[in-house]
Amino acid sequence: MTERDNTTIGVLALQGDFAEHVAALSRLGVTVREVRLPEHLEGLDGLIIPGGESTTIGKLAVRWGLVVPLQELLAANWPVWGTCAGLIFLARDVVGALPDQVFLEAMDIRVRRNAFGRQRESFEIDLDLPVIGQPPFHAVFIRAPLIEAVGPAAEVLARLPDGRIVAARQEHLLATAFHPELTDDLRMHDYFVSIAREARQRRQE
Ligand code: GLN
Repeated sequence: MTERDNTTIGVLALQGDFAEHVAALSRLGVTVREVRLPEHLEGLDGLIIPGGESTTIGKLAVRWGLVVPLQELLAANWPVWGTCAGLIFLARDVVGALPDQVFLEAMDIRVRRNAFGRQRESFEIDLDLPVIGQPPFHAVFIRAPLIEAVGPAAEVLARLPDGRIVAARQEHLLATAFHPELTDDLRMHDYFVSIAREARQRRQE
């Protein structure tokens, strides 16, 4: 588990289950800040964009002037992890988006919103996630998106048993279709914190 250090991670707190991410990061001993306004981004080592409703997160991000500052940070290779709706908000190409839906267009992935249809809108499954090792990660999917394709800049981190992609990474960007903050397993949060810590160390070199 991560030792306490001065890594500071933000959680976008506009809508959705940001409180669960804040709790998970606090358990890891990192400093956490809820982000609602551009000035809250200052000095952060990385940001988590939670699950919720991607159309609402996009609208609120526009209303509070967060889209341009976030895109500037992303252009500077800043660590960001999107879970579920947050993954949709990060993506470059979204199938099933509303006509005026806003995205950060940072990650080289094609995402399909609400990809699991009615019967399987929500389900749980133990996933193999090689970057965090064994045992498999208990993944909770709630009206989840799927990653239909990853571009050359991104790599697949996890697939469902039928091969469909549910987690990806692109340099300091992380995307998971499921909700690690809804389980007690902190390994995905720990993985993201280590990405953010490495990025900070590299900036300081
Ligand atoms: N279906 C939601 C959307 O499109 C995402 C669901 C979630 O974040 N749990 O925004």
